[in-house]
Amino acid sequence: MTETQATRGPYPENFYPGTEELGADEMRITALGTGRPFLRRSQANASWLIELGNGDKFVFDFGFGSQMNFTALEIPYNAVTAWFATHLHTDHVGDFGQIWVGSWAGGRLKPLEVYGPSGPEPKYGFQHFIEKQMESYAWDTDTRVGALPAIGAEVNAHEFDFTAEGGVVYQQNGVTISSFPAVHIYDGPVSLKLEWNGLTFVYSGDTTPSRFFAENAKGADVVVHETFNTVGQLMDRSGYDENTARAIGTFIHSAPEEAAVVLKEVDPRLAVIFHFFNDFDTAPELEAKVREHYAGPLAMATDFMVINATRELIVTRMAVVSEHVWPNKDEHDDFGTAERKEPLKMSDWLWQAQLFPKGRLKGGDEGGDADESKG
Ligand SMILES: [Zn+2]
Ligand SMILES: [Zn+2]
Repeated sequence: MTETQATRGPYPENFYPGTEELGADEMRITALGTGRPFLRRSQANASWLIELGNGDKFVFDFGFGSQMNFTALEIPYNAVTAWFATHLHTDHVGDFGQIWVGSWAGGRLKPLEVYGPSGPEPKYGFQHFIEKQMESYAWDTDTRVGALPAIGAEVNAHEFDFTAEGGVVYQQNGVTISSFPAVHIYDGPVSLKLEWNGLTFVYSGDTTPSRFFAENAKGADVVVHETFNTVGQLMDRSGYDENTARAIGTFIHSAPEEAAVVLKEVDPRLAVIFHFFNDFDTAPELEAKVREHYAGPLAMATDFMVINATRELIVTRMAVVSEHVWPNKDEHDDFGTAERKEPLKMSDWLWQAQLFPKGRLKGGDEGGDADESKG
C-alpha cells in the first residue's frame, strides 16, 4: 500500500487557486458541479475540470451553475483547451451560454472548442443543440459585436458518434480522450475516458451500471461514477412517491449499492461518486450502501473537491476560493487590439433619446444612417 486517502504528501491542507504549479507528471481534477438537476448553492450541476502537467485543461460537462465554480478557480478562459459534454440534459450542458458568452466577455481570444455526442437522429445530437443555442442567443451575441473581439464569438462544435465503444474523440499533445456509451434513458449519452502520461481518468456522466463502464474504466487511476440519493432519501427528503423515487434513483441513475458493484469490478486507485446531495445526515447511509460491495479508496464528491494524481500518490482535499473574482486581467493584454467586426446600430429615435450620447462603436457614424421613420 503506497497511499491512503488520508495522506496529503507534499500538499497543503487546502488548495488555494493560483498558488500551486502543477508538476509535469501530475493531473489535477476539480469538482465544479456534483449535485442533482435541482440547483443549490452548495452543489452545482455536473462539471469536472481536468488539468494536466502539460498545460492542457479540459472541462467535462458544464451543467447549470457549475461555471461559477470554474471562475472561482481564477483560471483564464484562454487557458481551457476544450469542453466536453456527456449528454444533453440541462444539468450537464445548461451553462453553455456562460462558457460561450461569459468566456468571450471574460477574455477568451480563440474559438470555443466543444465536443459532444451524436443522437439517434439529428435533433437529439450535439451539433443541433449548439446550433440552436447559438441561434436563440442571436440578440445577445450580435449586440456584443464591435465591443468584444470578433474571434470570441466563434464556436467549433465537434460531434462524435455516441455508439462507438472506445472511439477516440480527441487526440492532441499526448492526450487521448475517448468515449463509450452510457446507459441513461435513451440513445445518445456517453462516458468519457482521458489518458495522458500513464494516468487515466474516467467520468461516467449519467449512467446506470453497465458492462460498458465496467470494461472501459477497468484499472483507471481516478474514476468518477454517478450515483443518486437512496430511494428512501428521495422519498423522505425530496417528497417523491415510491415509484418516482425508484424510477429516478435506480432506473435512470445508479443506485449506490449497484454503482458499488461496478466500482469493485473497475478497481480504480480512487473511486469518486457524485450526482447526489451530499449532506452530513444523508451521506452515511449512501456510503454504507456503497460499502456493501466496494471496499477500495472512495471519495464522496462535493463542489470544490480537488484531486491531485501522480503515478505515486492520489490526494483529495478542498479548494478555498474567493467569492469576488474578476476576470484575469493578465489575459486582457491583447483584448483591446484584437479585431472587431461591424457592430449593430440602434434606431435614431433611440440614439437621440440619450442624455449623454457617446460615439457609436467602431464602424458606426455619429448620428447613424438609420431610417428615422422606423420609430
Ligand atoms: Zn442525464
Ligand atoms: Zn445528470
